[in-house]
Amino acid sequence: MVNAQERIDVIYNVVKNRNPGEAEFHQAVWEVIETLTPVLEKCPYYAKQKIIERICEPERQIIFRVPWEDDNGEVHINRGFRVGFNSALGPYKGGLRFHPSVLLGTIKFLAFEQTFKNALTGMPIGSGKGGSDFDPKGKSDSEVMRFCQSFMTELYRHIGELTDIPAGDIGVGSREIGFLFGQYKRITNRYEAGVLTGKSPLWSGALVRRESTGYGVAYFAEQMLKARNESLDGLSCVVSGSGNVAIYAIEKLHQLGAKVVACSDSGGVIYHEEGINLDTVKAIKEGARGRISAYLDEHPEAEYRADGNIWEIPCHLAFPCATQNELDENAAETLIENGCKAVVEGANMPCTPIAVDLFLDSGVGYGPGKAANAGGVATSALEMQQNASRDAWSFEYTEKRLHAIMANIHSDCYHTSEEFGAKGNYVVGANIASFRRVADAMLAFGII
Ligand code: NDP
Repeated sequence: MVNAQERIDVIYNVVKNRNPGEAEFHQAVWEVIETLTPVLEKCPYYAKQKIIERICEPERQIIFRVPWEDDNGEVHINRGFRVGFNSALGPYKGGLRFHPSVLLGTIKFLAFEQTFKNALTGMPIGSGKGGSDFDPKGKSDSEVMRFCQSFMTELYRHIGELTDIPAGDIGVGSREIGFLFGQYKRITNRYEAGVLTGKSPLWSGALVRRESTGYGVAYFAEQMLKARNESLDGLSCVVSGSGNVAIYAIEKLHQLGAKVVACSDSGGVIYHEEGINLDTVKAIKEGARGRISAYLDEHPEAEYRADGNIWEIPCHLAFPCATQNELDENAAETLIENGCKAVVEGANMPCTPIAVDLFLDSGVGYGPGKAANAGGVATSALEMQQNASRDAWSFEYTEKRLHAIMANIHSDCYHTSEEFGAKGNYVVGANIASFRRVADAMLAFGII
């Protein structure tokens, strides 16, 4: 008879062999299942029913061709993906990523993570993710529109408000969601608002969705500090990226009394000792779709470090909000040496496994993305509620709901970590709390 740890090792080897070359997917799976040994020991029924084996296998994976024509009449062929990972708790739900680095393994790791994140929200949503290797950077609005129309011309037959509800992610904001929804509406002859989230509030979108992931990250950090009898007031922060998540994390951190001194994009890092001016960042990124280096045009006293390493800037709190594996062991060592108190993930899986171990071993607070950035998908679920009831809530009411959801996620993770003898270890807390929720729903459905 194999023990729980041996079973986990066997499952991981099977995942690796069945999904060759998908290192990010392997990493995401291992990061979750390595913490599940005590649950299998406590509840052998999960093992008998092969729940972990089932959770690691996506329910469905769709790959399709996306041809489109640029402004010069040249034809391009991209690849589209949509992975429905788990629908035990509700219809598939998760964003679309448009970035040249996107491969099937990228989408699978994101969809797998989404399973646990969505379960933590307590909302009735399953998990999925999708995207394309299309790069919206440098494309005209017409090119982006033609690409989105071609993408949706295949995707529409696989999604629906009760089946699968995509949203935004890297490279997909309200412009892209608008083009995608327009094509869906045209093909299906239905104004099915609940089929996509992250819509503009001008036409069926929800207030606070744009801000929700970043705000949620700041709220999660606030809760982590509160659990240690500390607060955000006066703490200095660095936030990587300058996209949707980074911008609204900075906004809420400033509102809660912290000072963000650095942000970045894939070209370099801005360091501004007196505090990042968010209006300038918004004007560059949300308005002009420009590069963060343009920040110096308005603030010549700030510093721009081309290809710089943001984690070298001393801070009390670090918020990786750009992309996966952006914070490695060297960065973790530097942050620890510089006296960083906590690292809270806005992006999905931005810290490498060794970096995470270093934080946990050295007592630096570590908020994993599946818990800390769940405010985005939770607010998407609130958007779905508004769409279903043909209602529109105020900013204040929606933000209050978001705040309560983030506090609940924190408390769920914290108390579960305590229950399993690892008080304050949010990796253990988030993985076990969400696993149990999904597993129990799967058990109720029988072997499907
Ligand atoms: P955006 O496209 O709005 O912004 C991404 C930011 O990260 C940009 O500043 C971008 O710089 C930088 N970036 C992206 N890829 C890389 C890379 N390979 N190397 C360095 N920098 C990079 O995306 P979001 O803010 O929406 O998403 C950021 C992260 O948060 C992702 O991990 C996403 O999965 C996660 N997330 C997003 C949610 C949402 O609601 N949007 C919800 C939950 C998680 P540049 O412009 O130069 O490429």
